[in-house]
Amino acid sequence: MRIVLVGPPGAGKGTQAQFIASHLAIPRISTGDIFRYNVTNHTELGRKAREFMERGDLVPDEVTVAMVRDRLGEDDAQEGFLLDGFPRNVPQAETLKKLLLQEWDARLSVVLELVVDEDEVVRRLSGRRTCRRCERVWHVLYDPPARTGICDDCGGELFQRDDDSEETIRHRIEVYAEQTFPLLAFYADENVLIGIDATGPVEEVTSRAMAALRPFVR
Ligand code: ADP
Ligand code: AMP
Repeated sequence: MRIVLVGPPGAGKGTQAQFIASHLAIPRISTGDIFRYNVTNHTELGRKAREFMERGDLVPDEVTVAMVRDRLGEDDAQEGFLLDGFPRNVPQAETLKKLLLQEWDARLSVVLELVVDEDEVVRRLSGRRTCRRCERVWHVLYDPPARTGICDDCGGELFQRDDDSEETIRHRIEVYAEQTFPLLAFYADENVLIGIDATGPVEEVTSRAMAALRPFVR
């Protein structure tokens, strides 16, 4: 299956992606995680992406698309994938469509939209904590680790992302509305868009997501 997860920052894409990808035995490909890894490790890609990420802007398409093209070329992505955070605008979606047709004679199986309102997104992002070691996300109120500041899964240190400051959160929500929201009409036209209510406990959202995806599982 070739799946795209879409929704505003903080909708729970990363949280759900880890469960969905593991249920369906496909790799989760998060462009945000790949960029953050490259920024942390001071690579050339990280150098190109850093200033845009700090401001909460999109990294330019040529940089992002080249990175995704490389990642989709890896062995584990040949039979399917779950994209989290890509595409983020219509030109990226057009490029992905062409790439799938050229390389695999394939189309996306389904695009799953996580629907959450803006107030909830702000609450989720302002309490988000991320593990430095395994990148698992936690929330100080909704999903707190047993020991403050320490990841239950791997014992790594939790940190607050620079772009989860209040001002940058507001800007990222604007960027979503202006650049990413039009993707929903694009994918509705392609007849691949389904939406689920992404509020409520994480496990309930996962159940709704799996129920919505079931008809597309081969
Ligand atoms: P995204 O990848 O869409 O930006 P994340 O998966 O990182 O979003 O989730 C943002 C924050 O919201 C995290 O702190 C996460 O723990 C929390 N979160 C995710 N899903 C839920 C949920 N269903 N209810 C409450 N908090 C959630
Ligand atoms: P995320 O982890 O998905 O919230 O992404 C964090 C940041 O990485 C975004 O605010 C962008 O700066 C950058 N980014 C992630 N995915 C993309 C994309 N598809 N296009 C452009 N920039 C992206």
